[in-house]
Amino acid sequence: MSYVFFDLEWNQGYPRNEAEKIDEIIQIGACRLDSWQEEGKPFSAYVRPSIHKKLHHQVKKMLPLDQNRLKKADPFKKVAADFFHWCGAGASFFTWGTCDARVLDLNLCWYGMEEYLDIEIYDLQRAFDLLVLRTIHQTSLETAVTELGLDSQLTYHDAGNDAVYTALIGAELVRRYGALPTPEEMDRMEEELRIQRRQEAAVEAAQGLEEFLNQQEPILRRKCSHFDSVHDCLKSRSARVFHCPECESWLCNGNWYHVGRFYVARSRCLDHGRFYSVMTVEPEGEEKLQGILSVFPEVSFPQPLFQLTKLGGQVIEVRQMPRKRRRTRRGKATIVKREES
Ligand SMILES: [Zn+2]
Repeated sequence: MSYVFFDLEWNQGYPRNEAEKIDEIIQIGACRLDSWQEEGKPFSAYVRPSIHKKLHHQVKKMLPLDQNRLKKADPFKKVAADFFHWCGAGASFFTWGTCDARVLDLNLCWYGMEEYLDIEIYDLQRAFDLLVLRTIHQTSLETAVTELGLDSQLTYHDAGNDAVYTALIGAELVRRYGALPTPEEMDRMEEELRIQRRQEAAVEAAQGLEEFLNQQEPILRRKCSHFDSVHDCLKSRSARVFHCPECESWLCNGNWYHVGRFYVARSRCLDHGRFYSVMTVEPEGEEKLQGILSVFPEVSFPQPLFQLTKLGGQVIEVRQMPRKRRRTRRGKATIVKREES
């Protein structure tokens, strides 16, 4: 059993049509570990371009290689066959992120080398993100190497060197955490992270709204009285419809997001931008409830606070069944609300 960490560099053209959009591999770099404890064996080979003969200016900027060197290299079919032969039978494959696997597949298909399409490729970046940083953000190779405190003498953006770094990270993760998580385990870890993020966001949003309401005067404040339930209150006309404070157009709030004791919704005036409504509900007398609606213009309501509320909040849908028009005997069109299911 060997572990092959590989990295690709590819060139792109200046496409005039779909067919010319293909990313063409110009270097395959790899590092093979025959066991997790062992030193890696390196592999690096350039590929003679046959699709895009010139290096794209952005590729030129990033990669430390020149065109003449590429012209003397072997064609893709030869390099790829050498590479898979070097890997040996039954190797496990690893890359940093998912781009390299996509580009490899693309090139294998282009050159009719379908026999290699079945290999499973493990996304080590995802494992690193989940195990080390507990995030779903895609960490760069360089950042990961620094974060793990690994030796970083080699220059980046050379497929051979990047593959060595990927192998170092793989071995380090195994040393620290034992066997790498399977893709299914990573799915579960991601789901747990999302749930945790949402819970944290809900707490943070509720605190933020508390502070915000204490500091900021609303542009409109209104009592929405006499409801049997919170849901009735949130769905009511008084909680949802108001005049734009600038121009008297009718505005209507969309769905509510519920965090802590707050309900937040948005509406928009085509001329005067968004308005944010914050509702709290309190007892009214013995049996009824009343809502206090505070409306804020876009300029005073912090966007990050709304994003947090949206992320952590539970959505309360207010969408009503479509209304249908019915003609009365007098010939006047009136709007009749359909029964809600
Ligand atoms: Zn307006």
